Amino acid sequence: MLAKSRENLRLACDRLSIHPDVFEELKWPRETLSATLLIRMDDGSRRAFKSWRCRYNDRRGPTKGGVRFHSNVSLDEIETLAFWMTFKCAVANLPFGGAKGGVCVDTKKLSASELERVSRAYIEAFAPFVGPDRDILAPDMYTNGIVIAWMSDEYSSISGQASPSALTGKPLAFGGTHGRLDATARGGYYALRHLEASLSLDPDNATVAIQGFGNVGYHCAKLLHADGYRIIAISDSGGGVYDSSGLDPLAVMQHKHETGSVRGAKGHGKTKAISNAELLTIECDVLVPAALEQQITLENCEEISAKIILEMANGPVSHEADSKLSAKGHVIVPDILANSGGVTVSHLEWVQNRSGFYWDQSHVRDHLKKTMETETQAIWALHNEMAIPMRDAAYIHGLRRIAESVEARGTSA
Ligand code: GLU
Repeated sequence: MLAKSRENLRLACDRLSIHPDVFEELKWPRETLSATLLIRMDDGSRRAFKSWRCRYNDRRGPTKGGVRFHSNVSLDEIETLAFWMTFKCAVANLPFGGAKGGVCVDTKKLSASELERVSRAYIEAFAPFVGPDRDILAPDMYTNGIVIAWMSDEYSSISGQASPSALTGKPLAFGGTHGRLDATARGGYYALRHLEASLSLDPDNATVAIQGFGNVGYHCAKLLHADGYRIIAISDSGGGVYDSSGLDPLAVMQHKHETGSVRGAKGHGKTKAISNAELLTIECDVLVPAALEQQITLENCEEISAKIILEMANGPVSHEADSKLSAKGHVIVPDILANSGGVTVSHLEWVQNRSGFYWDQSHVRDHLKKTMETETQAIWALHNEMAIPMRDAAYIHGLRRIAESVEARGTSA
């Protein structure tokens, strides 16, 4: 995946006539560590879990990015996600480089105490890599505030002092910030709302399909639903539901709590069961992939009907499908912009931890809204001026900032 993603970088470098040193540097991760976590399971046996942490580029500041717990995590995936984080942080104009980490583990098969041991072992393995001015961790898929709290607690023990700013996404009572929980979804929501007029979207008449009903998918559904958008399809790893009369995200979440999946939830009309793959091809105005990478590929991109794709997941559209869809006039609001709200509020958490002064929710939301609107506007303007897809515009926008910080240090030595 990293090789494919590099194409976006190459294109942006060509368009901006960037110094070749910059391309050469950004082609590769700065450093990636791997570790095998040896965990004592509840039944007394010992199990090994592969794990990684990649610091992709730190020209704009300490590296920043989440830790993913998933059974299919691979080295290439972590390095690609770290590459995307580098651009995401630049697009959001944060003083951070990009990083990502992961553990090959299916959290659904672990007890709470096993999960705690994995979380603590992860931070123990990578502690020398971590720090408020070096590499700052956060939640990602299948990691949440509790996992981050265990990691933060372990990190403070290892470093021998309270070190809240080495990890963000912490619970409020443990140095977290207001507004972090729904920040990723809210950022995408602000971006979409900002583009409503340009995209001729009328919330009262627009339909939405959402793939993935974790933290991001759920909050996105809730925010859009509250504004009048009709959510007609929702899916998760266990299946999905479609209802042309609309679904109530709160009721669907209630069903998920009770049964473990959105499958079988009831909407306002005749609700029918659909698969995760079917959700993507549903006729709707806005498609919101909010699950894994590589969901829309050459195999299914011809069947995508939504004119607008809001990428709340990282990398949900493959490189090839992206070119095809853009050429056909679909507007893809790219991941490095659409889901940058999470890390934007993580930055605010880091700032608050460092200063010891804490803001209320409205302060955090105002800042997030302003950031999303400013960067969305800049990327939308570039997309129009240069007649290029929004993804290319976002890469150019981020690359300008990264290149400036590379070049500011000199390119001749
Ligand atoms: N994991 C989130 C992302 O992919 C948040 C990262 C962060 O807050 O550092 O953007």
